[in-house]
Amino acid sequence: MSEKPRVRFAPSPTGNLHVGNARTALFNWLFARHYGGDFVVRIEDTDRARTFEKFEKGIIEDLRWLGIVWDEGPEKDGEFGPYHQFERIDIYNRYLKELVDEDNVYPCYCTEDELEAERNALLSRKVMPRYMGKCRNLTDEERRRLESEGRSPAFRFKVPEGVVEFNDLIRGPMKFDCDVIGDFIIVRSNGIPAYNFAVVIDDHLMKITHVIRGEDHLSNTPLQLLLYKALGFEPPLFAHHSLILGKDRSKLSKRHGAVSVSDFRDRGVLPEALLNYLSLLGGSFAGTREICSVDEIIEEFSLERAGRSGAIFDEGKLEWLNKAYIRNYSTPKLTELLVPFIEDAGYNCDTIDRKWLHSVVEAIRDNLGTFSEIGDYIDVFFDERYEVSGDAAQILKEEYAGAVVKSLHDALISEECAEDDLYRCVMDIVSSKTGFKGKKLFMPVRAAITGKTWGPELDRLFAILGKETLLKRVKQAIATVYGS
Ligand code: GLU
Repeated sequence: MSEKPRVRFAPSPTGNLHVGNARTALFNWLFARHYGGDFVVRIEDTDRARTFEKFEKGIIEDLRWLGIVWDEGPEKDGEFGPYHQFERIDIYNRYLKELVDEDNVYPCYCTEDELEAERNALLSRKVMPRYMGKCRNLTDEERRRLESEGRSPAFRFKVPEGVVEFNDLIRGPMKFDCDVIGDFIIVRSNGIPAYNFAVVIDDHLMKITHVIRGEDHLSNTPLQLLLYKALGFEPPLFAHHSLILGKDRSKLSKRHGAVSVSDFRDRGVLPEALLNYLSLLGGSFAGTREICSVDEIIEEFSLERAGRSGAIFDEGKLEWLNKAYIRNYSTPKLTELLVPFIEDAGYNCDTIDRKWLHSVVEAIRDNLGTFSEIGDYIDVFFDERYEVSGDAAQILKEEYAGAVVKSLHDALISEECAEDDLYRCVMDIVSSKTGFKGKKLFMPVRAAITGKTWGPELDRLFAILGKETLLKRVKQAIATVYGS
């Protein structure tokens, strides 16, 4: 690449950061890092009715959490600011004036109702709806008259005849017929620029060399290219990547479940796992390795691979990666990350001995797909949560189980087994008394001491719970199930 690339991520703060948009940000960031370029974040906040500060804050927080760091943008001034579109209105107005003066743009006085009526008329004739140019050739006098009625105009770009062609870096040669475009609004009647206009001015002034975005913006590109031409700007290169799809191959949306970065953070997915997953999705790096460091992902990144075909979001795979990343953490560090999730599950961590909590985390850490599952796994360690579930009661009611539970009770009550060898000693006794091994031995023991049919390894449970607690639980199970 001859010149130093400059790319941008341009979110509209009208909602939480969707994983699809996070992936766009990631591609831009990886591209910049791979080629030693600059990565700009620009906030597209011109839709005043739908823009909220909390969303901007959330997007910024999510990007930082993922480790996607920008060189210029909010809270990081550079020489091409301001980086909020709403602070750039004067700039857009300058270019609007230029386009009006050169007769590339005209005022349009049509009301919403008039436009709607035109749209419906076209649809009923089975013609693709577009603006048919009603205000294109108004005389000065007609304009004055409409203004005297109190109408303030929007400004429309005069779409010329012909075709717009460009070479998409991911999708190859693209060709659009201007016939179907229709004169489009570049500044609304309230003086706020439309997306297609503001984006062209900003990308030009911010010296953006590559526009990398989702294919949902592909149909905007010809409009933007027409503006580049009219303004005499050199256009950037464009790359439209595929979108993330749900399992049914439709665009990933809320009805598929978790879709925003904060949804995944709240569930306790690690940022490095999500970043790794989003890079992997759509085959954006080569090789068969799936767990890669950020440096490897940057090194391997290529736009061509960044997804031509739709990428299906697979939560199972993300969870698998998350498990792999959980393994990288020491138990004390992992425990600290888990504390908010443990609190959410209803425990007060200030009252729990940290060393004891470490041993609990140690016992269940390999089971966790996401941190929010912690509540399901740790309750067996807390007496106040002990109760015999229906499944466990079923097992305990089996004829063979009664003998196991009785021997377990007797072994725990006897002085025979020491605390530090409890599991082996108790199980040996129960096995030799009942003659059972394997499932017939383990299932009733598990059911009696945890009240559940699944959970952490029994040896860990014995070590953490200790003789006294185990005995108390076995007595409770006996009372619950056998009534004595
Ligand atoms: N604000 C637009 C969006 O959030 C940006 C599109 C673009 O990258 O040009 O979709």
